[in-house]
Amino acid sequence: MVKEKLWLESYPQEIPSTLEYENRSLQSFLQEAARENPEKQAFHFMGKDMTYKEVYGDALRFANQLRSLGVNKGDRVAIMLANTPQSVICYYGALLAGAVVVQTNPLYVEREIEHQMIDSGAKVMVCLDILYPRVEKVWRKTSLEYVVVTSIKDYLPFPKNVIYPFVQKKNTGIKVNISYNSKTLHFPSLLSAGEEKELDIPIDPKEDLALLQYTGGTTGPAKGVMLTHYNLVANTLQCRAWMYKMKKGEERVLAALPFFHVYGMTVVMNLSIMYLTKMIILPKFDPKQVLKAIQKHKVSLFPGAPTMYVGLINEPDIEKYDLSSIEACLSGSAPLPVEVQQQFEKLTGGKLVEGYGLTETSPVAVSTPIWGKRKAGSIGVPWPDTEVAVLSAETGESAEPGEIGELMIRGPQVMKGYYNKPEDTAASFKEDWFLTGDMGYMDEEGYFYIVDRKKDMIIAGGFNIYPREIEEVLYEHEAVQEAAVIGVPDTYRGETVKAFIVLKKGKNVTEEELEKFCRENLAAFKVPRLYEFKEELPKTMVGKILRRALVEEEEKKRKEN
Ligand code: AMP
Repeated sequence: MVKEKLWLESYPQEIPSTLEYENRSLQSFLQEAARENPEKQAFHFMGKDMTYKEVYGDALRFANQLRSLGVNKGDRVAIMLANTPQSVICYYGALLAGAVVVQTNPLYVEREIEHQMIDSGAKVMVCLDILYPRVEKVWRKTSLEYVVVTSIKDYLPFPKNVIYPFVQKKNTGIKVNISYNSKTLHFPSLLSAGEEKELDIPIDPKEDLALLQYTGGTTGPAKGVMLTHYNLVANTLQCRAWMYKMKKGEERVLAALPFFHVYGMTVVMNLSIMYLTKMIILPKFDPKQVLKAIQKHKVSLFPGAPTMYVGLINEPDIEKYDLSSIEACLSGSAPLPVEVQQQFEKLTGGKLVEGYGLTETSPVAVSTPIWGKRKAGSIGVPWPDTEVAVLSAETGESAEPGEIGELMIRGPQVMKGYYNKPEDTAASFKEDWFLTGDMGYMDEEGYFYIVDRKKDMIIAGGFNIYPREIEEVLYEHEAVQEAAVIGVPDTYRGETVKAFIVLKKGKNVTEEELEKFCRENLAAFKVPRLYEFKEELPKTMVGKILRRALVEEEEKKRKEN
């Protein structure tokens, strides 16, 4: 399918085009870190540091307790947590017990939790106390045998009855009364009764799953993506090769991306454990807390999502902080507007590059070389051992440079398939190529560009319109903080373009002015005819703007009228 791997010419010479993939389990890296660097700090969380020895010790205790609860190799253990020390400990603990981790989004409502638990057949769940009421309502309908409840305060360095101001601010109004019994277990008690005994459960990295990661929830019930140890280890090693200037044991990474999303899991958590990078864990993205943390901990790496960078550049006091420690930032999970990238780099001096991938690719497949040639608006070039082809709708073959088609990916990070869904799995592959559902193209130098999701394309008056192109233009307007574009039904044109806008604080603009601005920068058929100003846009926890939610809102409004 790939005629030529044009991108290899663009690789910085320090990055090999092919790597050695260690046939190891993910947990073996934590074990190695604890043995070789026991006293090194693994992370910082709200005033507390933990060493690798401590993290491994607690992960082992948790693993042994899971085994005594009857968790065997291949059983599923669900984790529903905000970023906390427990996210790292329970994830590695479950892997050490030989289990498959099922990450559960803390924003899930009861219906979604129920679907995920039934579909994955999870036996045990660990959840935050404030999330427990939702779990309690549904767990008897699922195969969950035990629920382990933990609190954000369990690892904080001050007395349990003192609530840390940041936590207090976030949790106001939520009171949880949990009666612990033989099925509802208290995490700190479970851990303190656990043994630190080493476990040696044989893992076949290419066959055994490490993760069942749910995706696609906005277009029907979420599907479980099966990722093996090999997939996740490979993607972490590819990431490391890409960040070749990173010095083992010397970096500090900001863990603001949620660990329950595969992006935060691979690019922050797994990478840190493998390369002894200290994680500065934040339970939630908050621009002020992020700026303070970067300055205080001299953060050198900051993987994030576009909306995080948007939030930061619009923080009025950003110039007061010393952000000079930042070396590299990787933006992923959604398109990074060129304007945002340039403003962020101007304000921080750190390099902000774009990466692209999906849950199905562990997640990263393509990214801009951090210390190499960058091109505005491009997602960059495929990572080592990763091939990307553009499927031409006309010929069914690999497209010529410049021609738009669906991107397909092949590489060691591509999933094994969707759990218990052989038909969906078969439909998402063309031979051994994974079909991404994203439309894009490659240029003459092997750099890739995402045009949009196949299913988000708007067809107005017979023209194909990609929302992203219009959003890019809107972001260039000085009053616009965030923009999202969708298609809405139109009797004359089939569909017409509607833009949702969040204004920057203290700025104003009228619909007419925005339309005029779009007319100056876009062909007439792409110019939004409808505008709506909003306080905020619906987003996932990783900060991806949910266009689908806007489409649903519009449908609801139409039905009501
Ligand atoms: P998820 O599986 O939730 O990580 O979502 C994957 C989807 O996010 C991809 O199919 C793309 O549509 C989108 N995506 C990820 N990274 C980028 C990027 N850099 N530019 C544009 N879209 C992206």
